[in-house]
Amino acid sequence: MSLSASSASRRYRSVLPMASSTPDVLLIGGGIMSAHLGAMLKRLDPRLAIEVYEAAPELAGESSEGWNNAGTGHAGLCELNYTPPPAVAGGPVDVTKAVEIFARFEQSRQFWSYAVTHGLAPRPAGFIRAVPHLSFVRGESHIAFLRARHTALVTHPFFRTMEFTAERDVLHRWTPLLVEGRGTEPIAATKVDAGTDVNFGELSRQLLGWLGAQDDCRVFTGHRVTQLRRAGAGWELTVRQTESGESRSVRAPFVFIGAGGGTLPLLQATGLPVARGLGAFPVAGQWLVCENPAVVARHFAKVYGSPPRDSGALGGPHLDVRHLQGKRMLLFGPFATWTTKFLHRTGRVTDLPSSLRPDNLATLLRTGLHNRVLVRFLVQQALQSPESRLRALREFYPEARADDWRLVDAGIRVQALKKADAGRLSFGTEVVTAPDRTLAALLGASPGASVSAQIALQVITTCFPDRLRTPDGYAQMKAMIPTFDLDLTQFESAADYVRRSGRIDDPLELRRAGRCE
Ligand SMILES: Cc1cc2nc3c(=O)[nH]c(=O)nc-3n(C[C@H](O)[C@H](O)[C@H](O)COP(=O)(O)OP(=O)(O)OC[C@H]3O[C@@H](n4cnc5c(N)ncnc54)[C@H](O)[C@@H]3O)c2cc1C
Repeated sequence: MSLSASSASRRYRSVLPMASSTPDVLLIGGGIMSAHLGAMLKRLDPRLAIEVYEAAPELAGESSEGWNNAGTGHAGLCELNYTPPPAVAGGPVDVTKAVEIFARFEQSRQFWSYAVTHGLAPRPAGFIRAVPHLSFVRGESHIAFLRARHTALVTHPFFRTMEFTAERDVLHRWTPLLVEGRGTEPIAATKVDAGTDVNFGELSRQLLGWLGAQDDCRVFTGHRVTQLRRAGAGWELTVRQTESGESRSVRAPFVFIGAGGGTLPLLQATGLPVARGLGAFPVAGQWLVCENPAVVARHFAKVYGSPPRDSGALGGPHLDVRHLQGKRMLLFGPFATWTTKFLHRTGRVTDLPSSLRPDNLATLLRTGLHNRVLVRFLVQQALQSPESRLRALREFYPEARADDWRLVDAGIRVQALKKADAGRLSFGTEVVTAPDRTLAALLGASPGASVSAQIALQVITTCFPDRLRTPDGYAQMKAMIPTFDLDLTQFESAADYVRRSGRIDDPLELRRAGRCE
């Protein structure tokens, strides 16, 4: 029988095991990335001994926690930053990035379906919901762009159900809060009903709960990895139990650093060439939250607006219906704020200063100089008053009342800065590996949790290629992610996939697989 999240977390060891262990695979961090990699590897090769070390007292309490991210299943349906405005006004909109994100998210959905039907994540109602994804714009030039974007997207099989409207009565039906109390300003929106809201924290806990119950696998909370060094053909880690302060060593031939904001310092400790010159750029977030039932009951979508000028690749604000801690509520934001911490809960203000090295100072300075406009935007965001946040909310929801909203902290995105980027900031995610493939780490935070299955797949393809070459391994991976060896970004493959699977328009197909509400 499956365990509830709380009873599952009680099973995690919070004391150091007496005998020293030598797992085959050691995962640092108990967030969505380690959860996917651990679960996928164990299914691929059930003989693998896997250990997970999480510093915090509970699993997935950092960026993967429901409150700390927007919970958007990023599929390119509503995020306007994935379809940049054309260089020439009236030109075609490039949808390459939106198609790519959709294809990557589809691999996550495939894996989640597998996880539900095979008991790895047995409670889909706890982690995924169907929520329409809308893009919302104001003003004639933005409407022209949205129309052109819709025209470009709707011809692709992935986006064939996307609707566009500039009609007030239709908009009112789709999203009444955004229309009521608005003057005659022209507005428009697109809508895709097959969007999703995902509680990545709950999904992580389900997957890690399953992993921790498998033979030769253990998941430890309250255990911080403090040091990482070469040992023979693999790695030796120092792990400190946070409660007792006791430390011990663990050796493993393969290590994955899935420590979110804590990844950079650990990667720096490896001394690998890939870490040389790496710097970090943390951006914290905040949400306005509304729990007034009368307001909450009137908004049933995720509505993404245009990214503000100067915000670079950070993306636009959005007004979302969310389901957190068993409650329906609205979140608006994120508002960016300055921080020098790399982790929301267990980070320290000294994280950024401690990450400075002679080899990354130039990278940081060059990034600051290249992104003066973004830096100015972040300073403005950090200096926002309650009134200016309310003004931003009222651009979406004109009749919003200050009393209905409170400000809460979201998670922290730590973007890795590389020498090779010459000061450019992409806010992407990137898997880096040791040359001998004994270690992999995930840098960056966007599109983040939505593409965690594809990130795990990338680590497996790079570091465990032999496991996929055996007939059993190949068949197992095909079962977990049927399109793992197909390129769905190619139009023909996408069209064929949509024709055969018929599942694009059904975000809850995996919930039904789990026979949930
Ligand atoms: C404001 C905001 C909004 C976002 N919105 C979305 C969204 O809508 N959709 C989406 O897909 N993604 C979104 N993301 C990104 C997404 O949340 C992250 O990409 C994802 O959760 C990262 O998962 P992770 O497992 O790598 O890291 P985390 O969830 O941060 O997990 C890392 C874990 O490692 C632990 N750790 C750190 N250091 C150590 C150590 N030394 N030893 C042991 N353990 C350690 C931490 O305690 C933590 O639990 C958003 C992020 C933010 C900040």
